[in-house]
Amino acid sequence: MSHKEILRVESIEKKFGGLKALNKISLSVYENEILGLVGPNGSGKTTLINVISGIYKPDNGKIYFKDKRIDKLPPYKLAHLGINRTFQIPKPFHGLTVRENVEVAALYAGKQCLRTFFRRLKSLKTINKSYCNVEDDVQKALNIVGLEKLQDKQAAHLNTSEQKLLGLARALATKPKLLLVDEIAAGLNKEETDRLADILISLAKNSIAIIVVEHLMHFIRKITSRVVVMDSGLEIFEGTIDQAANDPKVVEVFLGG
Ligand code: ADP
Repeated sequence: MSHKEILRVESIEKKFGGLKALNKISLSVYENEILGLVGPNGSGKTTLINVISGIYKPDNGKIYFKDKRIDKLPPYKLAHLGINRTFQIPKPFHGLTVRENVEVAALYAGKQCLRTFFRRLKSLKTINKSYCNVEDDVQKALNIVGLEKLQDKQAAHLNTSEQKLLGLARALATKPKLLLVDEIAAGLNKEETDRLADILISLAKNSIAIIVVEHLMHFIRKITSRVVVMDSGLEIFEGTIDQAANDPKVVEVFLGG
């Protein structure tokens, strides 16, 4: 296991009106690592993912990706650098097939492919594949999540689990080095959750660092041992899950003290 830092979040603050959704959050993520980000509803987890992925700009603080300052960059530039995410509620293009959805994501992430991406969005006419060939990346992403057999199905006809896998495939098609995964296991059964856990573990082994936001502690426990615990915009704990289970502040938050 390498300990090379890939992401460093330094004292990030984000306010919504008078509410401090993120109050001086600092954390690091290392290569080949899955970091669990946990905490009760409203503690700021999704806001932090939104800030790291460029959807929100922080009010204060700095974020470095492989020593490059990234906290002022928009999402597409971050995707070019190798940071991408899944969404809590996946929003595929319903009229497109599974494969086309992944293709659009891959085009978006390729610098030279952006023009093709916008053309693809505007019309579903055949695009000039030779201009920007993302087919290998698309097939690889579909294989990793196991959706290759459903690639010609319309996204609108997928079930919840398949939609989550599609969301993951779309992020993977951008060839991320850092993947942010927001509540992907919510609403899935045990078999589906176990399958997702295996996929994430194998991705981390293959050099993708991952931050996983999740309510479900059994899911987190399966895929990682290191967690950051948030409560009301504050980071209240960083360490192993076993240490967290014995930390009075964490116990109080989780047992609703
Ligand atoms: P979590 O993901 O841990 O459930 P969130 O990051 O979604 O928490 O929310 C943290 C706090 O910030 C909550 O109080 C939430 O209502 C507030 N919040 C999140 N996004 C916005 C927004 N766009 N506008 C106003 N308040 C927001």
